[in-house]
Amino acid sequence: MIPMVKPFVAPAEVMMPEIERTLYSGYIAEGEKVYEFESVFGSYIRNSNVLSLNSGTAALHIALLLAGVGPGDEVISTALTAEPTNVAIKLTGAKVVWADVDVNTGLIDPESIRQKITERTKAIMVVHYAGMVCDMDKINIVSSETGIPVIEDTAHAMGSGYCGKPVGGNSAYTCFSLQAIKHLTTVDGGFIALKTPDRLPDARKLRWFGLDKKVPRLENDIKFPGYKYHMNNVNATIGLVQMRYIDRVVGRHKDNGRYFDKALSGIPGVTLLPYYGHTEPSYWLYTLKVENRNDFVRMMEENGIAASELHLRNDRHSVFAESKCELPALDEFYSTFVHIPCGWWVTDADRERIVALIKKGW
Ligand SMILES: *Cc1c(COP(=O)(O)O)cnc(C)c1O
Repeated sequence: MIPMVKPFVAPAEVMMPEIERTLYSGYIAEGEKVYEFESVFGSYIRNSNVLSLNSGTAALHIALLLAGVGPGDEVISTALTAEPTNVAIKLTGAKVVWADVDVNTGLIDPESIRQKITERTKAIMVVHYAGMVCDMDKINIVSSETGIPVIEDTAHAMGSGYCGKPVGGNSAYTCFSLQAIKHLTTVDGGFIALKTPDRLPDARKLRWFGLDKKVPRLENDIKFPGYKYHMNNVNATIGLVQMRYIDRVVGRHKDNGRYFDKALSGIPGVTLLPYYGHTEPSYWLYTLKVENRNDFVRMMEENGIAASELHLRNDRHSVFAESKCELPALDEFYSTFVHIPCGWWVTDADRERIVALIKKGW
């Protein structure tokens, strides 16, 4: 079976000596390796205002807290995402308010965001689902006109681009995941990237109990409670090795994605998704719309190729019951879209076979 997702781990002969050195170095907590990884990652996304964390969920949580989100507030978000996006909002005590999606792309619709804004709206959460970048030109306008900050969930979008730059520096807050199946994994981990450095000290305290690491422990004074969200030297060592391969890994996702963009166009029963202006997808998954989706999925799976929606639309969870509302565009998109594998493990022969199968029909 060609899987939908697969962890990329650098070859053992490169990875293991580095891990061994760190493990027995006498310092495995947050230390130099972590700071080195932050600097390398910051260069990759061309934004040095980054903090490593132990998960993407931690990044989302800290972003929401920095945006001042708390009980009684509302955060506008999308239901078409992995659950952590919206569970993180619930963790703050705020209410999730669903915006509808653009029926052509499945990505959050800027017009719907605008309609859902109230005096309680504290943040707008956007998800570059499957690696496709949201309509940031329009979302930026909504944000600047209303003064409501945008949090970009880029868990699927490492290496995606906006305005010729990697995602990670456009909005007030950007949240990356380094979880097992994302483009770049450290087993588990995450990054928050801030547009400006002014809130970095607060973010640092939130990541470590509220303590200030620059002040000696016996002189420290916790003013607000923080979490235990930091990355350790072992995961950072893995990350530093993985970064040597990031261009190859992301490059292969993109190459496969562009191949499908061309080879799958014009096939009866298939509708390809358009990409917004100034955006470049990094194709974590390849997403398309198909007629008779159940038959399509069955045909693909009978031929050893994973195909599915992958995520349950989040508004179906009981925990979001208070947010229930009509989402007609999502209803339509959700009934026809499907993901197929497109990652670094998909070979030339694989992708040719996938296209041939789809051309034959289902
Ligand atoms: C994976 C993921 C997250 C959370 O990342 P973790 O590192 O697993 O905490 C958040 N949002 C989306 C869309 C994800 O896919």
